[in-house]
Amino acid sequence: MTDQPTPMMAQYLAIRDANPGALLFYRMGDFYEMFFDDAVAAAAALDIALTKRGTHEGQPIPMCGVPVHSAESYLLTLIRKGFRVAIAEQMEDPAEARKRGSKSVVARDVVRLVTPGTLTEESLLEARRHNYLAAFAQVREECALAWVDISTGAFQVMDCALARLSPELARLAPREVLAAGHDLRDLVEEAGAALTDLHASAFDSAAGARRLCALYGVDTLDGFGTFTRAELAAMGAIVDYLDLTQRGKLPLLRPPVRERAGGAMGIDAATRRNLELTQALSGGREGSLLAAIDRTVTAAGARLLERRISAPSRDLALIHARQDAVAMLVDDPRLMADLRSALARVPDMDRALSRLALDRGGPRDLAAIRAGLAQGAAIAARLPEDAAPVLREAARDLTGHDALIRLLDDALVAEPPLLARDGGFVAAGYDEDLDQTRRLRDEGRGVIAGMQADYAALAGVQGLKIKHNNVLGYFIETTATHAERMMAPPLNATFIHRQTTANQIRFTTVELSELETRILNARDRALEIERGIFDRLRLAVLDRAAPIGQAARALAEIDLATGFADIAAGEGWTRPLVDDSRAFVIEGGRHPVVERALRRKAENFVANDCALTEGGTPAIWLLTGPNMAGKSTFLRQNALIAVLAQAGAFVPARRAHIGLVSQLFSRVGAADDLARGRSTFMVEMVETAAILNQADDRALVILDEIGRGTATWDGLSIAWAVMEHLHATNRCRALFATHYHEMTALSAKLDGVENATVAVREWDGEVIFLHEVRKGAADRSYGVQVARLAGLPASVVERARAVLDALESGEREGAARPAALIDDLPLFRAVPPAPAAPKAKPSPLDARMKDIHPDALTPREALDLIYELKALS
Ligand code: ADP
Repeated sequence: MTDQPTPMMAQYLAIRDANPGALLFYRMGDFYEMFFDDAVAAAAALDIALTKRGTHEGQPIPMCGVPVHSAESYLLTLIRKGFRVAIAEQMEDPAEARKRGSKSVVARDVVRLVTPGTLTEESLLEARRHNYLAAFAQVREECALAWVDISTGAFQVMDCALARLSPELARLAPREVLAAGHDLRDLVEEAGAALTDLHASAFDSAAGARRLCALYGVDTLDGFGTFTRAELAAMGAIVDYLDLTQRGKLPLLRPPVRERAGGAMGIDAATRRNLELTQALSGGREGSLLAAIDRTVTAAGARLLERRISAPSRDLALIHARQDAVAMLVDDPRLMADLRSALARVPDMDRALSRLALDRGGPRDLAAIRAGLAQGAAIAARLPEDAAPVLREAARDLTGHDALIRLLDDALVAEPPLLARDGGFVAAGYDEDLDQTRRLRDEGRGVIAGMQADYAALAGVQGLKIKHNNVLGYFIETTATHAERMMAPPLNATFIHRQTTANQIRFTTVELSELETRILNARDRALEIERGIFDRLRLAVLDRAAPIGQAARALAEIDLATGFADIAAGEGWTRPLVDDSRAFVIEGGRHPVVERALRRKAENFVANDCALTEGGTPAIWLLTGPNMAGKSTFLRQNALIAVLAQAGAFVPARRAHIGLVSQLFSRVGAADDLARGRSTFMVEMVETAAILNQADDRALVILDEIGRGTATWDGLSIAWAVMEHLHATNRCRALFATHYHEMTALSAKLDGVENATVAVREWDGEVIFLHEVRKGAADRSYGVQVARLAGLPASVVERARAVLDALESGEREGAARPAALIDDLPLFRAVPPAPAAPKAKPSPLDARMKDIHPDALTPREALDLIYELKALS
């Protein structure tokens, strides 16, 4: 026989069943409790104790809980681990429930569903990154992707064929993707997002249009642009999902902006990964281009930078306008410094605004709006009339907020508390009623101090104190030694006993409890007035949500321009000439990330030129050179320079002329790509196929050691054929690094293909890397020397050298197959395991070097020694 669930358990089960797929945080007093499987899963994920409470159907019920006041950090852990959490709050005072009868349970309901894409709390968000929720919709042949950051209100949509979904997700890096009826889990999870599978009805385009109209309070969406059915469906699904997760409290969403297809440089997921644009291969931000160049001082500026780097523009006018702003600031270091110090005081208005809209904000969010707008006005005033148009436009959006600034300034104290609940944020002098009530409350406190002195005298107890706690309210306390006297006449006529503890005894008096009531009333009344004022201020802010959002964007734009100007001025970057040609000429180019890493080790970066074409037909460079010479670095630095140039930044080069790049592709031979489980060679080939099928004649393609993942001759043949295809069919600009020296012969056959090599010098059997890129082919691969540098045993290095010599001479003599050659090599030529690499005969220079102990030398001796060594060489 099954036992009946308790009324509370019945309520719990009903709420849980109404919210499938989510962990239920069930509010009980100061805790959120979890039961059954939820408890087991949460206890494991959070590493907290799992206990039991009561039984259900004869079995003990597993339970665990987290305190409400520290729930946010537990929430964050759960969300990061892929859970969704439904938060059920108590919807009434427990006293109300008791009034209904002893069996009745406090009414509870889910007030919010917390999912990765719908976070707003400051503590749950990364300040400098967007937190996107995306939705992918398919309506017959059309597909669309919509995305929103509810913490800032940005709402966008674009036409997006299924094939384009992966690169778009790679660009946006959403936290959560909504979809229906597609098998998209792998694709979405590959992009690092959580997939939320919705019913197809959530993607109804007509319902979507209705939801959007209702959201923006319009009859038709025409004012926002024309949208396809798929776009309406995707946007509608987002609004629907927000309605579901926020339980009817819709966040402040800006009108949807339709992203133009082809507006941005096409960069697919593999390319983003290889170039480490916003994330390093190791997973973090550190080591990425973004981390190396981020000089923004506001969180919104950092988010804008990430957007620009993720989607460099293809719009020449826009690129030039952004460059003009950077150039102006580079030329005016004082203005730049002023702006940066003002920007550093700008808080995150976007996120404050969104919390206020969702009614999750507090006085500090109002203060953030005040500070942001006030700094904005100061910044606008600092920008000259003839500033670059991007900056002028920003200045315009930063003016006209004076009335709101004044209102907030009058109403709020300088540094308000986080929560409205406890009051204390409204400035004195703002509201007469409030000031009076507060006086009453504070006077009461003063009166208590006087009362304490009177009672001490009356009782003849010097140590008598009036104290306060949450259980008793105000009370009089003395040590227990006075108990007997105080509880006997005549003192017991005044002092009413309340409580005896181990050492203390506590009393009240009629007078004290009357005063307490007066103080409490005044306090409650003051809180009520403050809450009313908070609501009015909140509405005043929300009333101007659109212009405030615009001001926030303007500040981010200025921050980005000054950030770019700061790095350009500090690192000697130049303004690239970006035009409509097919040029790709970089003089003295550097890799911003590698350069930074080398600088930490006090090493210099060697700047290099790249000249694929200066306006003429696209060309290809075939780059050879030993491992570790700097081929990958060179390839990537050129790609990064193109990204920076079209993001509107200056670039790490002496001169740069870049014809607009439509698409950027970068692939690395499989051996470098270790993180994948699938056949790495297969991945490499699939990715290479994507380039050959997609690259147009304005693309820039970077191929690093393609074909390395398979046997030598296979690899060489594939590399060879890929190169021919790029040259003849794609006709794009490309840099191709390979260690197959045989390929250098291609330059003679294909015009537009040039050989280049990263120079090394051989010295006494060792290679010295010069990191200089020069025209021409590398004469040999130096792999054996590099192996030795890496610490391979001397005997192995010697043996490798012998094999190599045999192969090379065999090749010269036209021997049939390398296998045959190797067969001819004497097996295990006995090389004794010498302690040092056997060298012919130590030179006098070597001999002298051996005796030198640098630590023991004075500078003077060191100089003399250099003369001596020079004479020996
Ligand atoms: P490859 O692709 O030829 O094997 P990498 O590009 O990986 O070589 O470069 C190997 C190392 O050489 C880098 O980690 C870097 O420290 C150094 N390096 C590369 N290019 C330069 C340069 N231009 N100036 C100075 N050091 C460089």
